[in-house]
Amino acid sequence: MPETATTEFWRDLKPIENCFKPGVPPEIYMKDPANSDERYFIPLSETVLSRPMWISPQRNMWADILWAKKAGLVNRHYHPHQIFAYTIQGKWGYLEHDWTASKGDFVYETPGEGHTLVAYESDEPMKAFFVVSGPLIWLDETGASVGHFDVHDYIALARGHYAANGVGADYVDTLLR
Ligand code: FE
Repeated sequence: MPETATTEFWRDLKPIENCFKPGVPPEIYMKDPANSDERYFIPLSETVLSRPMWISPQRNMWADILWAKKAGLVNRHYHPHQIFAYTIQGKWGYLEHDWTASKGDFVYETPGEGHTLVAYESDEPMKAFFVVSGPLIWLDETGASVGHFDVHDYIALARGHYAANGVGADYVDTLLR
């Protein structure tokens, strides 16, 4: 139980005992990750940072906060799998679409789409929550594949960054599910 209830109608309910099935790892609770210590944000490109909150090697997926302090770019890439995004603040979009996302806006990207992510200069830096299914396939200007980035690249990038800045490479292990 988190806080003790006072007048809430459910105050006498008992929590489920042994709520985890055998072998099930614990939940992840993270306090306000969008505003966490900057050391937890990994450079994903020269202008965009990523703060991992959940990483699933078996699913080739991760959940993160993207943060562009000013104008930002994640260069063109193709997604064979789905992407969900929820905008926390700032303005961003994809060169390929006609909308601009701002605070509170939801985005779903259908599997089989290529795009170029851009963040705008605005009053607040762009921050958005993403649920990403890997891999990203990097594309050149002709649309040809020139590389990939999947959950294992993400884990390696995170471990390297956290090892170098004092957070510690092992921090990544706390996010694996
Ligand atoms: Fe993308």
